[in-house]
Amino acid sequence: MISKVLIANRGEIALRIILACKEMGLKTVAVHSEADRDALHVRYADEDVCIGPALSRQSYLNISSIIAAAEITGADAIHPGYGFLAENEHFAEIANECGLTFIGPTPSAIRTMGDKSKARETAKSIGVPILPGSDGPVRTYEEAVEVAKSIGYPVILKASAGGGGRGMRICTSETDMKGAFDTARSEAERAFGSADVYIEKYLEHPRHIEIQVFGDTQGRIVSLGERDCSIQRRHQKLIEESPSPALTHDLRKAMGEAAIRLCQAVNYVNAGTIEFLFQDGQFYFMEMNTRIQVEHPVTEEVTGIDLVKEQIRVASGLPLVVPNGDFRLRGHAIEFRINAEDPVTFAPHPGRIREFNVPGGPGVRVDTAAYRDYVIPPHYDSLIAKLIVHGTTRQEAIARGRRALELFIVEGVKTSIPLHRRILDDERFISGDFSTRFMEEFEW
Ligand code: ADP
Repeated sequence: MISKVLIANRGEIALRIILACKEMGLKTVAVHSEADRDALHVRYADEDVCIGPALSRQSYLNISSIIAAAEITGADAIHPGYGFLAENEHFAEIANECGLTFIGPTPSAIRTMGDKSKARETAKSIGVPILPGSDGPVRTYEEAVEVAKSIGYPVILKASAGGGGRGMRICTSETDMKGAFDTARSEAERAFGSADVYIEKYLEHPRHIEIQVFGDTQGRIVSLGERDCSIQRRHQKLIEESPSPALTHDLRKAMGEAAIRLCQAVNYVNAGTIEFLFQDGQFYFMEMNTRIQVEHPVTEEVTGIDLVKEQIRVASGLPLVVPNGDFRLRGHAIEFRINAEDPVTFAPHPGRIREFNVPGGPGVRVDTAAYRDYVIPPHYDSLIAKLIVHGTTRQEAIARGRRALELFIVEGVKTSIPLHRRILDDERFISGDFSTRFMEEFEW
């Protein structure tokens, strides 16, 4: 059994994992960079180890420092959170080799699903619908033009090793392809260490709908419903909700079954997400994330399942507590990502938080590691809090979102709170009828 968990992360997710460990009676070890000495995850963990300078490369991505911290403190498990090393198969492998339980999937599942173009092939081979596109990466400009011609413009070029909404280029004609192909390859090489890019048909007004999946070591895999993440800026999620206003019971079932089939194909264990694009009643597999997601609280609110505790239980070899069969989602949940950024230009805005007051009351949850006088370091992600509201209906969740955002006080840095408040008054958002293009068409 696991008794002491090292959390290889920072910010709200590190704190979220500490909360789960505390409830389970497990000891915790925080790791932190020199810039994070005053971070809350350090304060709340039982032990803490400084693993290097502020730069992620030298601290939160430094595998040997993190493994050494686990050994020094006698931790027997590592939770990677999301981002940083969460989807690094070598990290999972090294942890296992050092006798540490990696709270996540196997290195081989991370490898198979981590390469986006390989994951597409896996989906295709078992009959899960994918968008028309290249068979694997495209190596030359000529090949790219050939593929684009056969599927028809617009197309999207994507980095096989990409993530975080980066490394994508839309081409509406062969003229676009000329500049895009080489740039996409060199950008992919620089950002992800691999120049491989693949091509997919670009959908003009899709919704982003993803399925939360969970597998245990007994071989059981379940789907825990969907999250609609269509409200995005720069291909990055801003608001997520469950259930999706666009899905029927039958579609949810079909997507859930497709997601489960995909997991079975790679013997998936622990929490994961299968992302789909959905347009005109059809869904297409896009990619799999082999980790806990930022937006996991949305699913927790509508299922009543603590996904992080479940991750730890499953990593200990226990069976999933999820009941069998087609269970109902309870009410409606919406998550708002509160980023320290300019709400109009989206430029990050780190600095000292002068005033910080989080809302509460019925149906309101705030996951955050920020506090009054906390200095947001410029080195990491701009996410400072997640506001999750839950209501009996979507309408009630929206009303709760409005009042919670109104009472959410953050002073000293710019945040996305004013943007969220505006979105909640937008007719299209209220109607539930929107696509991933929502923000492009949005007017203040
Ligand atoms: P990442 O791994 O970087 O998050 P994804 O493949 O998940 O990248 O795509 C992120 C977002 O980009 C999607 O949610 C969607 O808005 C947009 N996108 C990706 N592929 C397509 C496509 N083929 N057509 C239209 N939009 C797409």
